[in-house]
Amino acid sequence: HRVRLISANWKMNLNHLEAIALVQKLYHLLRPEDFRYAEIAIHPPFTSLRSLQLTFEADRMPFTLGAQNVSDQLSGAFTGEVSAQMLSKLAVGYVIVGHSERRHLFGETSEQVAQKALAVQQAGMRPIVCLGESHEQRESGLTLDVLTAQIDPILNTYPLEALDTIVIAYEPVWAIGSGESADPEVVEGVGRSLRELLRRRVGDEIAARIRLQYGGSVSVGNAREFMSLEDIDGLLVGGASLDAEVFAQLIRAA
Ligand code: 13P
Repeated sequence: HRVRLISANWKMNLNHLEAIALVQKLYHLLRPEDFRYAEIAIHPPFTSLRSLQLTFEADRMPFTLGAQNVSDQLSGAFTGEVSAQMLSKLAVGYVIVGHSERRHLFGETSEQVAQKALAVQQAGMRPIVCLGESHEQRESGLTLDVLTAQIDPILNTYPLEALDTIVIAYEPVWAIGSGESADPEVVEGVGRSLRELLRRRVGDEIAARIRLQYGGSVSVGNAREFMSLEDIDGLLVGGASLDAEVFAQLIRAA
Protein backbone atom coordinates (compact mmCIF):
# COMPACT_ATOMS: atom_id res chain seq x y z
CA HIS A 1 0.00 0.00 0.00
CA ARG A 2 2.35 2.78 1.16
CA VAL A 3 5.41 3.12 -1.08
CA ARG A 4 8.58 2.99 1.03
CA LEU A 5 10.66 6.16 0.97
CA ILE A 6 14.34 6.35 1.91
CA SER A 7 15.56 9.96 1.94
CA ALA A 8 19.09 11.33 2.13
CA ASN A 9 19.31 14.65 3.96
CA TRP A 10 22.79 15.89 3.14
CA LYS A 11 22.36 19.05 5.25
CA MET A 12 25.07 21.66 4.51
CA ASN A 13 27.54 19.21 2.98
CA LEU A 14 29.06 18.57 -0.48
CA ASN A 15 29.57 21.12 -3.25
CA HIS A 16 27.94 20.47 -6.62
CA LEU A 17 30.94 18.56 -8.01
CA GLU A 18 31.06 16.29 -4.96
CA ALA A 19 27.30 15.87 -5.23
CA ILE A 20 27.51 14.65 -8.84
CA ALA A 21 30.33 12.26 -7.96
CA LEU A 22 28.39 10.84 -5.02
CA VAL A 23 25.17 10.10 -6.92
CA GLN A 24 27.10 8.55 -9.80
CA LYS A 25 28.90 6.23 -7.42
CA LEU A 26 25.71 5.47 -5.51
CA TYR A 27 23.82 4.66 -8.68
CA HIS A 28 26.50 2.19 -9.74
CA LEU A 29 26.41 0.48 -6.35
CA LEU A 30 22.64 0.02 -6.39
CA ARG A 31 20.70 -2.60 -8.32
CA PRO A 32 17.35 -2.14 -10.07
CA GLU A 33 15.63 -4.09 -7.27
CA ASP A 34 16.83 -1.52 -4.72
CA PHE A 35 14.78 1.10 -6.55
CA ARG A 36 11.82 -1.25 -6.57
CA TYR A 37 12.13 -1.83 -2.84
CA ALA A 38 11.86 1.87 -2.05
CA GLU A 39 11.74 5.27 -3.63
CA ILE A 40 15.13 6.87 -3.00
CA ALA A 41 15.26 10.65 -2.62
CA ILE A 42 18.35 12.85 -2.45
CA HIS A 43 18.13 16.21 -0.66
CA PRO A 44 21.30 18.20 -1.46
CA PRO A 45 21.85 21.89 -0.68
CA PHE A 46 20.09 24.26 -3.11
CA THR A 47 23.34 24.84 -5.00
CA SER A 48 23.41 21.23 -6.21
CA LEU A 49 19.80 20.85 -7.29
CA ARG A 50 20.32 21.88 -10.90
CA SER A 51 23.43 19.69 -11.27
CA LEU A 52 21.67 16.65 -9.86
CA GLN A 53 18.56 17.28 -11.93
CA LEU A 54 20.70 17.20 -15.08
CA THR A 55 22.72 14.19 -13.89
CA PHE A 56 19.60 12.15 -13.10
CA GLU A 57 18.10 13.07 -16.46
CA ALA A 58 21.21 12.43 -18.54
CA ASP A 59 21.96 9.04 -16.99
CA ARG A 60 18.33 8.09 -16.37
CA MET A 61 18.91 7.58 -12.68
CA PRO A 62 15.62 6.81 -10.92
CA PHE A 63 16.37 8.94 -7.86
CA THR A 64 13.90 11.56 -6.75
CA LEU A 65 15.27 15.02 -6.13
CA GLY A 66 14.51 16.74 -2.83
CA ALA A 67 15.18 20.06 -1.12
CA GLN A 68 15.92 20.77 2.55
CA ASN A 69 13.94 23.97 3.03
CA VAL A 70 11.75 26.48 1.19
CA SER A 71 10.28 29.93 1.68
CA ASP A 72 6.69 30.19 2.87
CA GLN A 73 6.25 33.16 0.50
CA LEU A 74 5.42 32.93 -3.20
CA SER A 75 7.92 35.52 -4.50
CA GLY A 76 9.13 39.04 -3.89
CA ALA A 77 11.46 40.98 -1.62
CA PHE A 78 12.69 38.15 0.59
CA THR A 79 16.46 38.31 0.23
CA GLY A 80 18.15 34.96 0.46
CA GLU A 81 14.97 32.89 0.20
CA VAL A 82 14.07 30.27 -2.42
CA SER A 83 10.45 29.75 -3.50
CA ALA A 84 8.52 26.53 -3.96
CA GLN A 85 7.90 27.43 -7.61
CA MET A 86 11.64 27.62 -8.21
CA LEU A 87 12.11 24.19 -6.68
CA SER A 88 9.33 22.56 -8.65
CA LYS A 89 10.88 23.92 -11.87
CA LEU A 90 13.98 21.89 -10.98
CA ALA A 91 11.94 18.66 -10.83
CA VAL A 92 12.08 18.57 -7.04
CA GLY A 93 9.63 16.00 -5.70
CA TYR A 94 9.95 16.39 -1.93
CA VAL A 95 10.82 19.29 0.33
CA ILE A 96 11.83 18.80 3.96
CA VAL A 97 10.03 21.32 6.17
CA GLY A 98 10.48 21.92 9.89
CA HIS A 99 13.68 19.97 10.35
CA SER A 100 14.70 20.25 14.00
CA GLU A 101 17.83 22.18 12.99
CA ARG A 102 15.61 24.78 11.33
CA ARG A 103 13.27 24.90 14.31
CA HIS A 104 16.06 25.17 16.87
CA LEU A 105 18.86 27.05 15.09
CA PHE A 106 16.67 29.30 12.93
CA GLY A 107 13.64 29.69 15.16
CA GLU A 108 11.02 28.28 12.80
CA THR A 109 7.62 27.90 14.44
CA SER A 110 5.10 25.16 13.71
CA GLU A 111 2.87 27.81 12.10
CA GLN A 112 5.66 28.80 9.71
CA VAL A 113 6.34 25.15 9.00
CA ALA A 114 2.66 24.68 8.13
CA GLN A 115 2.85 27.64 5.71
CA LYS A 116 5.92 26.11 4.09
CA ALA A 117 4.19 22.74 3.73
CA LEU A 118 1.26 24.51 2.07
CA ALA A 119 3.59 26.38 -0.33
CA VAL A 120 5.17 23.04 -1.25
CA GLN A 121 1.77 21.47 -1.94
CA GLN A 122 0.59 24.44 -3.99
CA ALA A 123 3.66 24.15 -6.20
CA GLY A 124 2.89 20.49 -6.89
CA MET A 125 5.49 18.88 -4.61
CA ARG A 126 5.25 16.89 -1.38
CA PRO A 127 6.44 18.06 2.02
CA ILE A 128 8.38 15.85 4.43
CA VAL A 129 7.28 17.33 7.73
CA CYS A 130 9.77 16.73 10.53
CA LEU A 131 8.57 16.29 14.10
CA GLY A 132 10.41 15.37 17.24
CA GLU A 133 10.71 15.93 20.96
CA SER A 134 13.81 16.98 22.89
CA HIS A 135 15.41 14.80 25.53
CA GLU A 136 13.90 16.88 28.35
CA GLN A 137 10.45 16.73 26.78
CA ARG A 138 10.69 12.94 26.53
CA GLU A 139 11.89 12.69 30.15
CA SER A 140 8.92 14.81 31.24
CA GLY A 141 6.47 12.57 29.40
CA LEU A 142 5.58 15.34 26.94
CA THR A 143 6.44 13.52 23.70
CA LEU A 144 2.92 13.17 22.36
CA ASP A 145 1.90 16.68 23.37
CA VAL A 146 4.92 18.07 21.54
CA LEU A 147 4.29 16.01 18.40
CA THR A 148 0.60 16.95 18.44
CA ALA A 149 1.42 20.66 18.75
CA GLN A 150 3.87 20.33 15.85
CA ILE A 151 1.47 18.48 13.57
CA ASP A 152 -1.84 20.23 14.26
CA PRO A 153 -1.00 23.49 12.41
CA ILE A 154 -0.27 21.38 9.31
CA LEU A 155 -3.52 19.45 9.57
CA ASN A 156 -5.43 22.71 10.03
CA THR A 157 -3.79 24.43 7.04
CA TYR A 158 -3.20 21.76 4.43
CA PRO A 159 -6.01 20.94 1.96
CA LEU A 160 -7.72 17.79 3.21
CA GLU A 161 -7.92 16.19 -0.23
CA ALA A 162 -4.13 16.40 -0.60
CA LEU A 163 -3.19 15.32 2.93
CA ASP A 164 -2.39 11.77 1.91
CA THR A 165 0.61 13.11 -0.03
CA ILE A 166 2.44 14.46 3.00
CA VAL A 167 5.26 12.49 4.58
CA ILE A 168 5.85 12.78 8.32
CA ALA A 169 9.37 12.20 9.60
CA TYR A 170 9.65 11.39 13.29
CA GLU A 171 13.10 12.57 14.35
CA PRO A 172 13.66 12.74 18.10
CA VAL A 173 16.01 15.68 18.62
CA TRP A 174 18.39 13.74 20.87
CA ALA A 175 18.83 11.02 18.23
CA ILE A 176 19.92 13.39 15.45
CA GLY A 177 23.62 13.24 14.71
CA SER A 178 24.30 11.72 18.11
CA GLY A 179 25.05 8.17 17.03
CA GLU A 180 22.36 7.19 19.52
CA SER A 181 19.22 6.18 17.62
CA ALA A 182 15.89 5.80 19.38
CA ASP A 183 14.89 2.33 20.59
CA PRO A 184 12.84 0.58 17.92
CA GLU A 185 10.15 -0.10 20.55
CA VAL A 186 9.92 3.62 21.24
CA VAL A 187 9.66 4.40 17.52
CA GLU A 188 7.04 1.67 17.13
CA GLY A 189 4.97 3.21 19.90
CA VAL A 190 5.31 6.75 18.55
CA GLY A 191 4.46 5.51 15.04
CA ARG A 192 1.29 3.88 16.36
CA SER A 193 0.33 7.00 18.32
CA LEU A 194 0.93 9.26 15.33
CA ARG A 195 -1.18 7.02 13.12
CA GLU A 196 -3.94 7.09 15.73
CA LEU A 197 -3.74 10.85 16.00
CA LEU A 198 -4.02 11.11 12.21
CA ARG A 199 -7.03 8.80 12.20
CA ARG A 200 -8.80 10.98 14.74
CA ARG A 201 -7.96 14.17 12.88
CA VAL A 202 -8.42 13.21 9.21
CA GLY A 203 -10.16 9.84 9.16
CA ASP A 204 -9.03 6.25 8.67
CA GLU A 205 -8.63 6.31 4.92
CA ILE A 206 -6.30 9.30 4.65
CA ALA A 207 -4.43 8.34 7.82
CA ALA A 208 -3.66 4.93 6.34
CA ARG A 209 -2.09 6.54 3.28
CA ILE A 210 0.24 9.04 4.99
CA ARG A 211 3.81 7.78 5.11
CA LEU A 212 5.85 7.94 8.29
CA GLN A 213 9.64 7.99 8.31
CA TYR A 214 12.04 7.53 11.18
CA GLY A 215 15.18 9.68 11.35
CA GLY A 216 18.00 10.03 13.85
CA SER A 217 21.30 8.14 13.66
CA VAL A 218 19.97 5.66 11.11
CA SER A 219 22.84 3.34 10.15
CA VAL A 220 23.59 0.20 8.16
CA GLY A 221 23.16 -1.70 11.41
CA ASN A 222 19.72 -0.44 12.41
CA ALA A 223 17.97 0.48 9.12
CA ARG A 224 16.25 -2.90 8.77
CA GLU A 225 14.89 -2.84 12.28
CA PHE A 226 13.20 0.54 11.78
CA MET A 227 11.88 -0.36 8.33
CA SER A 228 10.25 -3.50 9.67
CA LEU A 229 8.06 -1.56 12.13
CA GLU A 230 4.35 -1.65 11.34
CA ASP A 231 3.79 2.10 10.97
CA ILE A 232 7.21 3.12 9.66
CA ASP A 233 7.40 3.40 5.88
CA GLY A 234 10.78 4.97 5.39
CA LEU A 235 13.93 6.55 6.72
CA LEU A 236 15.33 10.08 6.78
CA VAL A 237 19.09 9.62 6.83
CA GLY A 238 21.68 12.28 7.63
CA GLY A 239 25.31 11.34 8.22
CA ALA A 240 25.05 7.83 6.76
CA SER A 241 23.89 9.26 3.41
CA LEU A 242 27.08 11.27 2.83
CA ASP A 243 29.15 8.29 1.72
CA ALA A 244 28.00 6.39 -1.37
CA GLU A 245 29.18 3.01 -0.13
CA VAL A 246 27.65 3.39 3.31
CA PHE A 247 24.34 4.69 1.94
CA ALA A 248 24.13 1.93 -0.67
CA GLN A 249 24.76 -0.66 2.06
CA LEU A 250 22.12 0.98 4.23
CA ILE A 251 19.52 0.85 1.44
CA ARG A 252 20.28 -2.78 0.76
CA ALA A 253 20.19 -3.63 4.45
CA ALA A 254 16.78 -1.95 4.80
P1 13P B 1 21.66 11.74 11.31
O1 13P B 1 21.24 10.56 10.48
O2 13P B 1 23.02 12.26 10.95
O3 13P B 1 21.46 11.47 12.77
O4 13P B 1 20.67 12.94 10.93
C1 13P B 1 19.31 12.68 10.98
C2 13P B 1 18.60 13.81 10.36
O5 13P B 1 18.50 14.89 10.92
C3 13P B 1 18.00 13.61 9.04
O6 13P B 1 17.17 14.66 8.71
